[in-house]
Amino acid sequence: MVLIEGQETGWAASGRNGGFCAASLTHGWANGHTRWPAELTALEELGHRNLDGIEATLARYGIDCDFERTGEIDVATAPHQVNELKEAAEEAQALGVGGHVFLDRDAVRAEVDSPTFLAGLWNRTGVAMLHPAKLAWGLRRACLEAGVRVYEHTPGTELSSRRAGVAVRTPYGRVFARHVALGTNAFPSLVKRLRPYVAPVYDYALMTEPLTEEQRAAVGWRRRQGLSDSANHFHYFRLTADHRVLWGGYDIVYRYGGGVRAEYDHHPATYRRLAGHFFRCFPQLEGVRFTHTWGGAIDTCSRFSAFFGTAHGGRVAYALGFTGLGVGATRFGADVMLDLLDGERTERTELEMVRSRPLPFPPEPVRSVGIGITQWAMTRADANGGRRNLWLRVMDKAGLGFDS
Ligand SMILES: Cc1cc2nc3c(=O)[nH]c(=O)nc-3n(C[C@H](O)[C@H](O)[C@H](O)COP(=O)(O)OP(=O)(O)OC[C@H]3O[C@@H](n4cnc5c(N)ncnc54)[C@H](O)[C@@H]3O)c2cc1C
Repeated sequence: MVLIEGQETGWAASGRNGGFCAASLTHGWANGHTRWPAELTALEELGHRNLDGIEATLARYGIDCDFERTGEIDVATAPHQVNELKEAAEEAQALGVGGHVFLDRDAVRAEVDSPTFLAGLWNRTGVAMLHPAKLAWGLRRACLEAGVRVYEHTPGTELSSRRAGVAVRTPYGRVFARHVALGTNAFPSLVKRLRPYVAPVYDYALMTEPLTEEQRAAVGWRRRQGLSDSANHFHYFRLTADHRVLWGGYDIVYRYGGGVRAEYDHHPATYRRLAGHFFRCFPQLEGVRFTHTWGGAIDTCSRFSAFFGTAHGGRVAYALGFTGLGVGATRFGADVMLDLLDGERTERTELEMVRSRPLPFPPEPVRSVGIGITQWAMTRADANGGRRNLWLRVMDKAGLGFDS
């Protein structure tokens, strides 16, 4: 088995994400329920099995990536979000989506103390926190030990069908394979017809210095859950093993033409905005310094959850469109690709979620204009008690959206 990697293992999103490893395969159960209501139970069960599988894999291969099954709290920071979270808790219970607990203002602040928190919804069982780069490097080691030949700095530039397989062109010659699984995320797919389905958007994050014991006491956070707020433009935040706070999200930056480029990796205006928001959330941490800033590309698709398929007569499989929730779901995506390459019908390949695909994004300049209007409308909804304007309501009806 051969793995080719254009740069280095884990240099892209997999090595620099927030480390929220979620059971959800659908960018949250609510998105899954809206799109595939009849499959929600199966999707939830497969997702939890997938998360358990990740935990078992870490134990089996001795991969230490600071894995902690803390769960995640969605917090309300605006009055209208309190009811939304309450309703979500009731709906989750009615639909049998387990593990969700509504926390009122005092209860959420007893977990993590911020004057901005008005309520919370704690998903206790469906999310783990981990160190993403340690995970990527650990998986690389496990692959090498299992005999996989890993060629880094080896971009695949073209696929062509051969009688018994596929040839992958690289700058150093061609790799011939019976089957090819593509995990190219936000980068231009080697199956060109897939490119309109994915828009690379940039997400940015800050990391503080390690908190002192006193600072930790001031925020509580003894159970170390991941958190995110409930706005359309949301922040995600968590503690690391060495007691830093990772604070990211809010801005989702799409650039005209949608490339993935090194110069997009930093965005000082977003860092300044994020830092301001951080101290509004945790005024008791005034004076804490940020030691790291970074960004990376996310493979947003219009339904926020991955799509799958084959090309070159079934010899090439792809999974992409994870939209900012791929740490856990990419493992499921890999299983789907293996099923498809084996030509097997499994409980995964029979899912409508797996058999269907999102609507593509329009070409430029319409794409940029559409994304711009959507982001503007999302900002307005956040400022107007969550009320979605006509544009967002039409998009919702069409099953289209823009998220990270
Ligand atoms: C800042 C940020 C925060 C995030 N936070 C979270 C989070 O908390 N939780 C979560 O679930 N998700 C999060 N995500 C998303 C998550 O990181 C991704 O969904 C996931 O890592 C995707 O994994 P991947 O292996 O498919 O893609 P990547 O990690 O992007 O890897 C794709 C690899 O393919 C290589 N490649 C591409 N094209 C070629 C080619 N032609 N030839 C050879 N190699 C090629 C690239 O070099 C790259 O290394 C975040 C993403 C970002 C950027």
